[in-house]
Amino acid sequence: MSIADQKPSTIAVWAGEEKPLAFGAAQVPIVQSAPFAYDDMDTWAEVALGNAEGHIYSRNTNPTVGVFEEKCRILEGGEKAIAFASGMAAISNTLLAHLSPGDRVVSIRDSYGGTSRIFLDLLPRMGIDVELVETSDGDAIEAEIARGCKLVYLETPTNPTLKIIDLRRAIATAQDQGAITVVDNTFATPINQRPLTMGADMVLHSATKYLGGHDDAMGGVLIGREPLVRTVYEHREICGAVLSAFSAYLLLRGMKTLDLRVRKQNQTAMAVARFLAAHPKVESVFYPGLETHDKHDVAKRQMSGFGGMLSFSIDGDFDMLKRFVGHLHYVHRAASLGSVNTLIGPPSVTSHVECSAEQRAQLGISETLLRYSCGVEDADDLITQLDEALAVL
Ligand SMILES: *Cc1c(COP(=O)(O)O)cnc(C)c1O
Repeated sequence: MSIADQKPSTIAVWAGEEKPLAFGAAQVPIVQSAPFAYDDMDTWAEVALGNAEGHIYSRNTNPTVGVFEEKCRILEGGEKAIAFASGMAAISNTLLAHLSPGDRVVSIRDSYGGTSRIFLDLLPRMGIDVELVETSDGDAIEAEIARGCKLVYLETPTNPTLKIIDLRRAIATAQDQGAITVVDNTFATPINQRPLTMGADMVLHSATKYLGGHDDAMGGVLIGREPLVRTVYEHREICGAVLSAFSAYLLLRGMKTLDLRVRKQNQTAMAVARFLAAHPKVESVFYPGLETHDKHDVAKRQMSGFGGMLSFSIDGDFDMLKRFVGHLHYVHRAASLGSVNTLIGPPSVTSHVECSAEQRAQLGISETLLRYSCGVEDADDLITQLDEALAVL
């Protein structure tokens, strides 16, 4: 009975911690040590050369971080996982480790704001050719991939307008080209979507969001095929963007309830989306679980739940948005997402703060758009508050 054969809720609790831990601890100890000491030079050398199991220095490996990596690895169904100091560290290290001058990478216009900056500023400076395609246009994405590329970088659902990409189709086209596919699975979580089972080579997360789930730790993780992840591991070893043992502990503690939280957040987001879609002061609602979403069928095929994120625009201007947001109780007006607390914010100060107003407009992000990350509060309470705040407009 291998842990990988268990259901996600069991994996989230037990993976990486099935063996007895130090001192018989029932929870993963925080191993707060930079180096690891050896009495015997020969054993030290064997571990340092990778011929024996063990730890040398926490920029390479750390036992607490290792448990976090193992939990993520099994949840996503990959061969190897490595953790990072943040989601952006995972993304930048993955791209920089696999791309060289002259390579071509295909991605989408709607990737996370920080990721877009890497595509628009950093990679071109290094002589890497970047093609960003209209996210909702599956045919255009496949056509660009078919022109040949080293790497395909996808994200679905996207931030903040919840666009959906048909992963199986895009991945199949990439495989025909021998291109590496990377999917940012932060919004969906492995509870709702498992890109590796659809043929993706690597999947990554901002663990700061749903994996940790409590807005108290930053982290990132990359999971996928052994040789590809190993290349990134070697890059991380040198560049040093490692996850700290303490953050790994917080993320591990959060992950034990990942399945519980995400299932509830899926239900709450569906109820909130339906409420908003029926409200006269709401202009549009973006949620892949709504039948009116243009890619609802694709989402239904590749996701087992539609997620806890949605966005909507109110019928009015930015002043009205400010009044509306000011009237909400029991939500944090804050960046980030995927927490037990409900969070709300416009993209201009959250996901797309790195972009100019023109760039946001090009992405179809209106100035009255709000991103809403459902927490684990009571759904009826959240809807009542939204209703009262909309009533003041
Ligand atoms: C937040 C986020 C990131 C960046 O992660 P950090 O942990 O903030 O560095 C990347 N992708 C998505 C989809 C995100 O939501």
